Amino acid sequence: MPLTNDFPTRLIDKQMNTHHNYDLIVIGGGPAGSTVATLVAEQGYRVLLLEREAEPKFKIGESLIPATYWTFKRLGMLEKLRTSHFPQKYSVQFYSRTGKASSPFYFFQTNPHESAVTWQVLRSEFDEMLLDNAKEKGVEVQRGIRVREVLFEDDTATGVVVQGVNGTHETRNATVIADSTGQRSLIGRQLGLNTVEPNLKMASLFTHYEGGYRDEGIDAGATLILHTEAKDSWFWSIPLPYNRTSIGVVGELDYLLQNRRDTNGRLDTQQIFTEELERCPALKGRLEGAKQLFPIQTTKDFSYRASRIAGNHWVLVGDAFGFLDPVYSTGLFLALKSGEMAADAILEAFEKDDFSETQLGSFGPTFVDGMEAFRKLVYAFYTKEFSFARFLSQYPEHQGGIVDILSGDVFRKDVTHIFPAMAEMCPLPPEVPLG
Ligand SMILES: Cc1cc2nc3c(=O)[nH]c(=O)nc-3n(C[C@H](O)[C@H](O)[C@H](O)COP(=O)(O)OP(=O)(O)OC[C@H]3O[C@@H](n4cnc5c(N)ncnc54)[C@H](O)[C@@H]3O)c2cc1C
Repeated sequence: MPLTNDFPTRLIDKQMNTHHNYDLIVIGGGPAGSTVATLVAEQGYRVLLLEREAEPKFKIGESLIPATYWTFKRLGMLEKLRTSHFPQKYSVQFYSRTGKASSPFYFFQTNPHESAVTWQVLRSEFDEMLLDNAKEKGVEVQRGIRVREVLFEDDTATGVVVQGVNGTHETRNATVIADSTGQRSLIGRQLGLNTVEPNLKMASLFTHYEGGYRDEGIDAGATLILHTEAKDSWFWSIPLPYNRTSIGVVGELDYLLQNRRDTNGRLDTQQIFTEELERCPALKGRLEGAKQLFPIQTTKDFSYRASRIAGNHWVLVGDAFGFLDPVYSTGLFLALKSGEMAADAILEAFEKDDFSETQLGSFGPTFVDGMEAFRKLVYAFYTKEFSFARFLSQYPEHQGGIVDILSGDVFRKDVTHIFPAMAEMCPLPPEVPLG
């Protein structure tokens, strides 16, 4: 198998020590990795989770959607979240380019259950809570350990090469390797599996503010999605603990970054952010008197997906498999859900003693169908002529269907019933099956 990783293999040979065997090695301690690790360890299997960061760190991706409830329930996380200081999120609300607010899409409109209320999280704390829970359920968590490479014999994954804090390299072996390295996408890059969605090459600039205006009552924890005046970009506003608000702007890479370089090719991301905020008076007004807490950070948020979700003795979870534009806050849900589905496939693999691609990837088609529902809604959002307000004034009967998808209820067959009507107002992408 050709390796695109440039790690010097000779060095590994010299420094290699072989470690004990595990049933499962999970690479990456984000929400996807913690989930798959916890659910497998809980059934008595020997699970090692390797996380490259020695300490919890700032991460972007702070808004949950309601369907995460069911994975939290299985993980035993609900009580920890209920008693946390994370703001409760009841809805999402869209602001048009003219600053007109839609009615909030309250998740309880279609789901009168406590799962309709979810949370806005500080990722350094949230990811740590999930990792602590994994440890409590029997996962051996090792921090500060970077996995350099997944080892294959023919097409079968056999272990990983790790780099420890002191720089030495070792191998660790396991029956199954789960790649949950997020956008680092270790196996996807090693095997050349990933394809970027050409129409969704976006970039984001983001920071946190302290202070600023918050709506009242159950609207205080809402996610706001606000278009700028020419609809060339949009902002998120996500209320967080400590009176902070996460504010970020998303636009096509060329619009937001490439075409804004100065004559020396340099980017002033603070200035770009300020210019975009000027184009979004509804948000600017809410931030009057608020204090920006750290310099603008930048990321490319290209949507991509791997062509396979599993192989012999390996499986991909979370962003390591695919990433969809952040507009509907679906990343954490897809990370948790794929972690849960992969754990079930792994547990069944141990029962049947079958670690083939077919067995480990058995959840793939269902998972991809759910992702496709979000993907269609993402395309609708980026169609300049499309607006939810106009769609719902023409098709009021589809209000519930939209709320269901925004809530993450996408693994039902009938969730697609809104798309024929939507396709009359905007071009929707053809589905991309696995493999
Ligand atoms: C701009 C932006 C805004 C977003 N907003 C939202 C939002 O509001 N709501 C939402 O749900 N999602 C959002 N997302 C997406 C969300 O952040 C991700 O989908 C989510 O973090 C995926 O979880 P994960 O566990 O798959 O990966 P990650 O959270 O990225 O975790 C991967 C982990 O693997 C570790 N790792 C990487 N490489 C190695 C290695 N070689 N060895 C060991 N460890 C390794 C990393 O340190 C990391 O801890 C956003 C994304 C972007 C880019």
